Amino acid sequence: MQAAAALARKALRPILDFALPPRCPGCGAVIDAPHRFCLDCWSALAFLGAPCCFRCALPFDYETGAEVECGRCLAEPPAFDRLRAAVAYGEISRKVALKLKYGGRPGVAETMARFMARHLEASGEAVLAPVPLHRWRIWRRGYNQAALIAAALARLTGRQTRLDLIERVKATPPLRGMGPRERKDAVRGAFRVAARHKPALKGRAVILVDDVYTSGATANACAKALKRAGAARVDILAWARVVRGGDH
Ligand SMILES: [Zn+2]
Ligand SMILES: [Zn+2]
Repeated sequence: MQAAAALARKALRPILDFALPPRCPGCGAVIDAPHRFCLDCWSALAFLGAPCCFRCALPFDYETGAEVECGRCLAEPPAFDRLRAAVAYGEISRKVALKLKYGGRPGVAETMARFMARHLEASGEAVLAPVPLHRWRIWRRGYNQAALIAAALARLTGRQTRLDLIERVKATPPLRGMGPRERKDAVRGAFRVAARHKPALKGRAVILVDDVYTSGATANACAKALKRAGAARVDILAWARVVRGGDH
């Protein structure tokens, strides 16, 4: 429950953010209205959308028919049903994610959520849940950035949210610098659905919220845990998606 207390404390922060002149979440320049980017940062952001892999949102160079999947998804289908992300991972989107993760600027979560919400269907029964952090990291940092984004999405869209749906039962090392196989091994058995939520999860659809989608190791491990616990469908919604074999 430390997570909930920390979240409640941090929930007061956006009020402070609004008392100050709104700043571009990319570069910090003063701007006209909150939750917008300055023109330079806006132009540098690569917004994701069609044409892309129906499953993992990998951008395609050319228009394809609906529901076409990329070679990687066909060869090794992910455990999740669909992934959508607001922007490609790059210089500006990375700065925004770091501002939320380490910069003590939870108000940025709402900016991200506004861009992510465009990828949500107007209505739906799917419940929002964040990729969990291990409790040691929450103690150190004071909050889980994915939970802040999920809470902002819930406020914006009125969807049901379960911030503690998934538990991280194993502290995993940072996946940065690891290959796909090592990442998969590192997160194996790291997640489980909280026992108290299992009965309500049967047959439900879940939208798993994360800040950055890199290799899919974490998203896949969470999706597997959700499906094992009875979820009918698992979609991933991220702020940024690594597109060109990049790393962070
Ligand atoms: Zn800017
Ligand atoms: Zn794909």
